Amino acid sequence: MADCLFCRIVAGEIPATIVYQNDQVVAFRDITPQAPTHVLVVPRRHIASLSDLAPGDDALVGEMVRAAAGIAKEAGHADRGYRTVFNTNADAGQTVFHIHLHLLGGRKMGWPPG
Ligand code: 5GP
Ligand code: ZN
Repeated sequence: MADCLFCRIVAGEIPATIVYQNDQVVAFRDITPQAPTHVLVVPRRHIASLSDLAPGDDALVGEMVRAAAGIAKEAGHADRGYRTVFNTNADAGQTVFHIHLHLLGGRKMGWPPG
């Protein structure tokens, strides 16, 4: 999608610090990190929100989650722990409508989230 920020990052039109990529997903550092490690894992293909997922996307979502777990392990967060979050629509604070899995690690997290 031409006017989608994360499609443009995936296409290399907007710079980002990419920490992992494969044929299905790209992971890059959040521009406003909320933890020492704050990475966004996105599919290369545009999907606006979790509400738009189809059964055929199950493997893609699994790929996103496994990518986040691998990045967390690589960053040394696997033992102490880390958080993974999908924000969906207004009440959850979704601001970019191309699905992205937040990976946050490197500090203690509170619960419930704000
Ligand atoms: P959301 O609020 O939709 O769950 O998360 C969107 C995230 O994208 C936010 O954490 C925000 O800081 C991040 N973000 C917004 N614009 C950019 C950008 O241009 N580059 C990067 N790397 N992250 C961005
Ligand atoms: Zn997009």
